[in-house]
Amino acid sequence: MLITVSDVIEYLFCPRFIFFMHCLNIPQREERYYKVLRGRELHESREKVNTSYVRKRLRCVRKEVAVYMTSHRYRIKGEVDEVLFLDDGTAAPMDYKYAEYNDVVHRTHKYQLALYGLLIMEHFGAPVNRGFICYTRSDHHVEEVIFRRKDYHAALEIVNEILRTVQYGYYPEGTKQKARCVDCTYRNICD
Ligand code: SF4
Repeated sequence: MLITVSDVIEYLFCPRFIFFMHCLNIPQREERYYKVLRGRELHESREKVNTSYVRKRLRCVRKEVAVYMTSHRYRIKGEVDEVLFLDDGTAAPMDYKYAEYNDVVHRTHKYQLALYGLLIMEHFGAPVNRGFICYTRSDHHVEEVIFRRKDYHAALEIVNEILRTVQYGYYPEGTKQKARCVDCTYRNICD
């Protein structure tokens, strides 16, 4: 079984999402709308983060767009917005967020990016020691995230937790941030 990088984002938001989605097969209401919105936003954003910025500031010599990858070794799959090939021989994922940058990279986004990093290393055979996030609602601010070995380990441990939840039907603890429950699709069935 392979889990998607999107599953990891959901799990980090609230571990119970995975149980409701994959053990009880109850989809999230907003998913469809979100995908349409994101598709539109992404198209416009790629044009705004202009090529010369990416080439000069990020020292990118080549890039591939919308790269779908799977890994049986890591048991993950997902589509990264862009794979950048840098002039030092490394590669890096670039992900676009329909969000503002508030001086901190969220844990969710960091681990999402690290998993794309693992997929890129396996598929392209290039080392990945950093990734980039473009915040489209902060004038397309681009933030660099450095990956260390412990970040990759932590990201894979989250994948293992998700696999355990799905394979054994384990009912995890909900998020401790109760504000997230207010608008949650599952609040009526979650105790
Ligand atoms: S109601 Fe709260 S704890 Fe339950 S699934 Fe939703 S966010 Fe998680």
